Amino acid sequence: MFSRVLKYDIYNESKNEFIKYIKGFNKIHIISGNPEVLYNGMNDNSLFKGCTEKNSVIIPDGIGVVIASKIAKAPVKEKIAGIEVMEAIVKYCRDEKKGIYFLGAKQEMLDKCMENLKKKYSGLIIVGSHDGYFDIKNCEEILNDIKESSPHVLFVAMGSPKQERFINQYMNSLPASIYMGLGGSFDVISGKLKRAPRWMINMGLEWLYRVSKEPFRIKRLGVIPKFLLKVTFSKKEK
Ligand code: UDP
Repeated sequence: MFSRVLKYDIYNESKNEFIKYIKGFNKIHIISGNPEVLYNGMNDNSLFKGCTEKNSVIIPDGIGVVIASKIAKAPVKEKIAGIEVMEAIVKYCRDEKKGIYFLGAKQEMLDKCMENLKKKYSGLIIVGSHDGYFDIKNCEEILNDIKESSPHVLFVAMGSPKQERFINQYMNSLPASIYMGLGGSFDVISGKLKRAPRWMINMGLEWLYRVSKEPFRIKRLGVIPKFLLKVTFSKKEK
């Protein structure tokens, strides 16, 4: 069920299986494992601990991690995009009448994201929301708001590693069952930031599309070769 890449266990069944799998947890932290998140975890104990807790599960979100799993001779079944898991969870919550709290992004994107989801999944229960621009070490009011709203799911879209730090620090004191970091997904669902065309996603070129739309991302791509080298090197060591 898992592929071992460096010191991480990466989920290696299909996306549909994954949606069934997470229902078995009382509390779960879903981590979109892209090279950046995993590489950061190798250099930061608290992030690493968050990735490897027993109620954390890492999905192979990104071509870099799919390639890494091949290098590690433990190939994952398929890439599982965080944003697609998010939509599957939204649909499940709508069908089961479970509430969701949206935390992250700029207010305008957040509002539009929730509006679009409510249109697409009529009957969806959104119990609360807050933008993602606050000090995560000093956010009692937001934590209280989440507690009072009693969501089943807390989506956190504040980019990495801020969203992982927030979830790692607070999930045990919050009432939700499912916690998921979603990077820029609220922006994409808001319609203000487009996802790559399907053919690019299928060819593993989503990263190229994102760089073409937001050139500042090019700096962040440097982590992919570093991560892959680390995987290759650690394999030779065995
Ligand atoms: N963001 C936020 N708070 C911050 C910094 C960023 O809510 O302090 C939001 C930002 O508005 C955007 C998302 O986090 O919606 C950025 O995520 P990014 O695209 O960096 O994540 P990726 O998808 O690359 O993991």
